[in-house]
Parts: sequence; structure tokens; C-alpha cells
Amino acid sequence: MTPIAAAILVPLYALSYGFDWYEWFWFAFFMVATGISITGGYHRLWSHRAYEAHWSLRLFFAIFGACAVQNSILTWSSDHRDHHRHVDDNEKDPYSAGRGFWFSHMGWILRRWKPHPDNFTNVKDLQRDPIVAWQHRHYLAITLTANIALPLLLGFIHGKLWGVFIIATLLRVVLNHHFTFFINSLAHIWGRRPYSNANSARDNDLLALVTYGEGYHNYHHRFQYDYRNGIRWWHFDPTKWMIRSASWVGLTHKLKIVPQLQIERARLAIQFQQALARLDRAERRDDFRARLEEQYQDYLRALNDWAKVKQEWYAAKRKELAGKLDRFELRLRYVDLKYRWKLQRKRWRLMTAQLAQVT
Ligand SMILES: [Zn+2]
Ligand SMILES: [Zn+2]
Repeated sequence: MTPIAAAILVPLYALSYGFDWYEWFWFAFFMVATGISITGGYHRLWSHRAYEAHWSLRLFFAIFGACAVQNSILTWSSDHRDHHRHVDDNEKDPYSAGRGFWFSHMGWILRRWKPHPDNFTNVKDLQRDPIVAWQHRHYLAITLTANIALPLLLGFIHGKLWGVFIIATLLRVVLNHHFTFFINSLAHIWGRRPYSNANSARDNDLLALVTYGEGYHNYHHRFQYDYRNGIRWWHFDPTKWMIRSASWVGLTHKLKIVPQLQIERARLAIQFQQALARLDRAERRDDFRARLEEQYQDYLRALNDWAKVKQEWYAAKRKELAGKLDRFELRLRYVDLKYRWKLQRKRWRLMTAQLAQVT
């Protein structure tokens, strides 16, 4: 009903009274506060434990997460952990993309008219957090206060009772809902799969723009404990930037990231798989296949060697075990293996580029 109410009331109010900068400011504030509380709080902090946060930040996430009207942290995280564990399983994944766009987008919510059936066995760790427990107990009160009482108060102060409420609550709830729902629907249908094709999750830059960086969903399903979803610096991931910059002032800590080697290996495995499938389709059984396989093994070896020496290098540096000469030799090996890894990567890329010509 909220989309219908918003579609009628927002234009009606705009034509009758208009919205001024004060109302748009609160719209923007609520939009960002609720959006980031879902992605940074509900999702990456609580569902995945990708980092730890100071109580003040957790309290902010708990209040504005409730304000997003997407259920309590416990219920949301319990559903979401089921989604990851049983992804695409039409019985056990609460919003399985296998049941179609509509179901995974919001059909699953409309069908669940009974209270959450789970006994929260998969979120026992979260129940120990007093802020999570408090939010679950007073969910309705917090949601109503943040969505109705607070915007009405802000409107009253400004001399226009309903203005803030109509855009900062009504319009914002609708937009925030559907941007979040897109992750369960569109991000499992539309986009590329560079890290895993074991499930339907996709990477999609356009979706990242409206979901504070959650559009890199293929990466996320492959490496769910990483606090980042967009791993490159040019990837649009404001949630990652928020978590990272909060760590500089001590609000977040123990940020988890997946080692680069593991990421490269996953990507390489997929590319190899795709190349073989392509040769199969073209019915090529010649030496190109053998060369491809060889290049794949070489690249993998170079990658592993470099990662190993990198580890040794950091261990030596940390423990100061190695003497100056040893460290010098280690450094040489490090540079050498890193170069070889890059060389193999270049060869591998040339090889996959050739693939287009032979098939
Ligand atoms: Zn997730
Ligand atoms: Zn998903």
C-alpha cells in the first residue's frame, strides 16, 4: 500500500504546498541513514560479522534500520543467513530467485503473513548483543517513533506538519524498500558472474549505484565475510567507504578482507571453465585446448608462488627473524615472483583473447 499512497500523496502535496530545501534535506538524511543502516548494519555487520562496531554506531544502525521497515535485525539476519546457506533452494532460501522475479522481490514478504517461524537458531550470536535484543523487543515502538513521531515533530518545528513526513517517511520508505529488494531479485538475474557460477548471484554496477554498493552480489555470495562488496577502488561501494573511514576514528575495527590470492584463484577458475565450455561448443579438440590448460596451470603456479613469497616476506618483516642478507634475498625473490605472476597473467589474458578467434 505504501507505493500507492506515495504515488498519490507526494504529487498532491507538491502541487498544493510544494517541498522546500528543509524537507528535501530531511528526505536525503533519512534516505542515507536508513540505507546505510541496512547495508552497513543489518547486512555486513550483523548478518555476516564482516567487522565489529562501537556501541554508538550499532545503536544508530539499530534505530535507523528499524526506521527502514524491513523487520528487526534478528529476523532480517536470520532470513539472510538462510538465503546464503541455501541460495536458490526454492524450499529453504526465503527469497529464492529460482521462484521468479516477483517472488524474490517482494512476493515472499506478502506471503509471510504469520510471524517469523524461525526460532533464531542461526542468529544465537546476535542475541547476545544487548542492542540487537533491545531493538527486537521494542521494534514496533522504535519504527513508529522514527517514522511518524520524529518526522511530524520536524515538520511541526518548520511550520508545515506533513511535509517532512510525506517525503522523508512515505517516499523514502518506498524507495528504500525497492532498492533493497532489487538485491534479492535483479541482482540474482541481471549482471555478470566473474567469481562463481555455482549460484544465481550477479555483479551489477548500476544496482551498486542505488544500493550503497551492494550491487557486487556475485562477489558477495562467493566471499560473504569480506566487509567490501566492490573490491576495486573504482567500484562504487559507499558502505565500504563508510566502514573504512569509521575505522580511522575507532568506530569500527577488525575489518575482514579476503586475501587477493583467493580472489584471483576464484576468478581464474571461472575463466578457465568458461574457456573450456566455449571450446566444447565450437567442438575444438586440438592443441589449443592443451595450450590453454598449460597456461592455466602456469598462471595458477605463478599466483601461488607469489602469494607464498609475499607471506614469507611479511612474516620475516614482522618477526625480524631474517638477517639483513636473508631479507635482501627474500626481497629479490619477492620481486621476481611478482613479476612472473604478472607475466603469466598477461599470457593468460592473451590466450583468452585468442579464444574468440579460434571459436
Ligand atoms: Zn549477504
Ligand atoms: Zn543474494
